[in-house]
Amino acid sequence: MFESLSDRLGKIFSGITGRGALSEADVQAALREVRRALIEADVSLEVVRAFTEQVGQRAVGAEVTRSVKPGQQVIKIVHDELVAVLGEEASPISLNAPAPVPILMVGLQGSGKTTTTGKIAKRLKDKQGKRVLLASLDTRRPAAMEQLKTLGGQIGVDVLEIVPNQSAVEIAKRAISSARTGGYDVVMLDTAGRTHIDEELMAETAEIKRVSNPHEILLVVDSLTGQDAVNLARSFDTRVDVTGIVLTRVDGDGRGGAALSMRAATGKPIKLIGVGEKMDALEDFHPKRIADRILGMGDIVSLVEKAAANVTAEDAQKMAKKLKKGQFDLDDLKGQLEQMKKMGGMASLMKMMPGMGAMAKNLPADRTNDKMFDRQIAIIQSMTRKEREKPDLLNASRRKRIASGAGVEVSEINKLIKMHRQMADMMKKVSRGGAGGLASMFGG
Ligand code: GDP
Repeated sequence: MFESLSDRLGKIFSGITGRGALSEADVQAALREVRRALIEADVSLEVVRAFTEQVGQRAVGAEVTRSVKPGQQVIKIVHDELVAVLGEEASPISLNAPAPVPILMVGLQGSGKTTTTGKIAKRLKDKQGKRVLLASLDTRRPAAMEQLKTLGGQIGVDVLEIVPNQSAVEIAKRAISSARTGGYDVVMLDTAGRTHIDEELMAETAEIKRVSNPHEILLVVDSLTGQDAVNLARSFDTRVDVTGIVLTRVDGDGRGGAALSMRAATGKPIKLIGVGEKMDALEDFHPKRIADRILGMGDIVSLVEKAAANVTAEDAQKMAKKLKKGQFDLDDLKGQLEQMKKMGGMASLMKMMPGMGAMAKNLPADRTNDKMFDRQIAIIQSMTRKEREKPDLLNASRRKRIASGAGVEVSEINKLIKMHRQMADMMKKVSRGGAGGLASMFGG
């Protein structure tokens, strides 16, 4: 499921480059592509519109978290919105009602209703140790009744005895009372399907609902029907107020549009997905995992979430090693500057270092340092390897050469060298346990 959508989005996000806050143009360009990708995935138009609007609002001008690229930030936003559209939390079948708990299965003929009834029954029996009674209410198709009977035999679940010439409502009543007297935990009613929705079907379903008072009404929908599935879900929901949706044939659905539309269109959770014909091919629907799968980028999402903390911790460790050895040349300074720039400033790095959290508060706000870091890095890059290793070599003529190489004033070179010297001194102090004077170092 979702392979094509995932591919498309991957290409879009890799195209967003640049740094800093997300520009309106970046976001709009990405959203155009996202919109196209969703439409190609057969997501309903109104869902596409609502979705892209939401993402747009959150993305334009969004502060890009330190140490992640804007493209990654957009992925995170799209991911979060996908999770919201798909329903946030997983929504398992509830059995929180007096036994026998009635579960009503509704949906069109061929949607996989009977198969899904069997799958759920097997799962309740095997995983939760429940005693389940199955009943087919499909009075028009004797074959359907036989199918459920055979299925019950296969999975070792009891099926209500077939009595000819009873109406669906009569069978429902009989199923409930049999389940009660038989001491069953759950009674599942597999209603008749049609090839399309009609008033008769809806009226019958509503009447069955009235007499059986189901705790769950699960609408079974073939995900391959795409847009039609949305209209179907709406009609059923308006009429019988379903409690959840089971999407079937998700194993054959590379686009996945139905899943995205369904929840948004009905507000009802997708509880389970059918992923094959076998009786155990049933999975819980986890919005977050599905969103990960759609984007094919779960790693990036967690990276964005943990970016600052993880990266800085790692770098702080490296720095601590340097401190211990008492070494700190201009290459190290450059490395530090690059890190700081990446992480949005000295403050975030210092927060990770033991004893420096309080001092970090006094430093200038993060990204204002970006340009300064760039200039300082350029200065160091204009030095030879020897000069970087031995800053003492930097006499007046060398400083002049470096200044013109980096396109800055000599005074900036002097400042940088002074900063390095202070920093190296400070390093020594820090490694001995103190940490004085650091805050003054990044004055400008
Ligand atoms: P019903 O008319 O709604 O009761 O549909 P059935 O349960 O008879 O299913 C129709 C066909 O769909 C059967 O051949 C099932 O094996 C198949 N089917 C049901 N669910 C799935 C699924 O999740 N994946 C696949 N690949 N096939 C399924």
